[in-house]
Amino acid sequence: MITLDDFDTYPDFPVPGVLFYDISPILGDAATFRTACAALMPREPVDVVVGVDARGFIFAPVVAQQLDVGMAMVRKKGKMPGVLLESTATIEYGASDLVISPVGIENKRVLVIDDVLATGGTAAAVAEMLHRAGATSVEFSFLLELDALNGREALDGHTVTSVVRVP
Ligand code: IMP
Repeated sequence: MITLDDFDTYPDFPVPGVLFYDISPILGDAATFRTACAALMPREPVDVVVGVDARGFIFAPVVAQQLDVGMAMVRKKGKMPGVLLESTATIEYGASDLVISPVGIENKRVLVIDDVLATGGTAAAVAEMLHRAGATSVEFSFLLELDALNGREALDGHTVTSVVRVP
């Protein structure tokens, strides 16, 4: 089982006032990493797994391989070529321009994986792009959810699973 003790915490990172939860201890132990990946499995059947830049990229391929489905990337703007959909996310400490290729998303059931759900700004922007790309359903899995920031409210109507929740 993954608990809050499996995360390192850093006050005032990356900006003053933010308590940053770091997943490095989870990655550093094979059994804990395996447990974390297993806990991120979707509740419903999915056709594709989307990893969110950057720490979603650590877990999404493992889950996709386990499910025997493909994976797609949500990237920060400027890092990916081709015809892309764009959205600006308002996040816990700033704003972030995100992009995704719409290829392979239409009529697909999607699982989105990221490490942390904070305000939900990132995840809501991802959901909006995926719906624009024609996804039939969008489910979310996070390792950690910061309840106080109400991110789940931004994902109304979606199945949201968090392995650990911080009250
Ligand atoms: P949100 O958009 O405010 O929900 O923030 C979530 C995004 O910011 C995710 O992509 C996270 O990786 C990142 N993030 C926010 N807070 C933390 C944290 O405490 N640790 C690690 N990543 C964080």
